[in-house]
Amino acid sequence: MYDVVIIGAGVSGCAIARELAKYRGRICVLERSEDVCTGTSKANSGIIHAGHDARHGTMKARLNVRGNAMMGETAKELDIPFIRNGSLVVCTDEQQMPELKRLYENGIANGVPGLRIVSGSELRQMEPHLSDTVVAAIYAPTGGIICPFELNIALAENACMNGVEFLFHAKVDRIRRLPGGYEVHTESGQSYEGRTVVNAAGVYADQIHNLACSPPMEIVPRKGEYMLLDKAAGSHVSRTIFTLPGPYGKGVLVTPTVHGNLLVGPTALDIQDKEGIQTTREGLKKIKEQCGRAVKDIPMNQVITSFAGLRAHEKDGDFIIREAQDGFYDCAGIAS
Ligand SMILES: Cc1cc2nc3c(=O)[nH]c(=O)nc-3n(C[C@H](O)[C@H](O)[C@H](O)COP(=O)(O)OP(=O)(O)OC[C@H]3O[C@@H](n4cnc5c(N)ncnc54)[C@H](O)[C@@H]3O)c2cc1C
Repeated sequence: MYDVVIIGAGVSGCAIARELAKYRGRICVLERSEDVCTGTSKANSGIIHAGHDARHGTMKARLNVRGNAMMGETAKELDIPFIRNGSLVVCTDEQQMPELKRLYENGIANGVPGLRIVSGSELRQMEPHLSDTVVAAIYAPTGGIICPFELNIALAENACMNGVEFLFHAKVDRIRRLPGGYEVHTESGQSYEGRTVVNAAGVYADQIHNLACSPPMEIVPRKGEYMLLDKAAGSHVSRTIFTLPGPYGKGVLVTPTVHGNLLVGPTALDIQDKEGIQTTREGLKKIKEQCGRAVKDIPMNQVITSFAGLRAHEKDGDFIIREAQDGFYDCAGIAS
């Protein structure tokens, strides 16, 4: 019997595996696909958010600020690139200033270090390619960028070297309660017994939760599409530039990547299909229209690829990290 059976080898499952590997115990990770980092963790903006966006008082806000502070040391330990390039949330209209101030206050309440509102020549000097309509911005010096695959893979490798077993092509389809644990069954006919189970199945975390626990959970995939530009465009901005967030999240951003490319996106659209990662003509059109609001003269003729990912959105918008029932833990709704 395992002490812990973790379901899902995305960044959440692998970070949990790495942490648990520091303790004595038998741990495995069951992953339905052929490798680690094949779900949402492979298709995102790679931003280590400063923490002003998450609503004050939520678990997401608390862990965002703490995770950001930890990332420098974690990246060093894992030997992966991490750049604390800072971020700007820009306001493109005087009428949006109360909203910018509200976001700033939220960030201060969350304890984001060094946060301030910048405008005028200071702002233009920081980022010469900001659109002419930008009137002010929140500057967060602790914002950073990372390579999402390198983070996920390094966490997994470190966990593996410290004794965690990774089992691939292991899609969990049934979970049965046992005295003192659970039997986790996979589609290929194998069963794994664990004293405890951790559900880190991303957009499928509701299905895994509902196999074992009640009341039921619902995770809605919130699709985000991107365009990646060539390294020739990588220095168009040096910080991560966000527009003010809307009801569907943080808005379209323009950011350098740790590899020197420029990334623009994502869109945000709730969909039904948990495998719906195709890019669309409408989505890419929306990115082109929206990224120009914050940053001018983006060389869109340098686009080298496009891709999409699915945020695991739970209706309350917070992380669900808790013991759902005796020995069964959810790590769900990890939308950002
Ligand atoms: C458009 C977009 C932009 C984002 N930008 C950022 C950002 O800039 N910064 C940030 O911090 N976050 C961002 N995120 C969010 C970030 O990507 C997620 O928070 C993170 O990847 C979630 O990781 P996870 O391990 O919980 O889920 P996943 O990476 O999806 O991992 C879940 C794993 O579970 C496996 N699985 C599912 N069902 C089963 C099953 N039945 N049996 C076995 N295995 C199963 C899957 O195959 C998958 O490998 C963004 C997300 C999107 C979509």
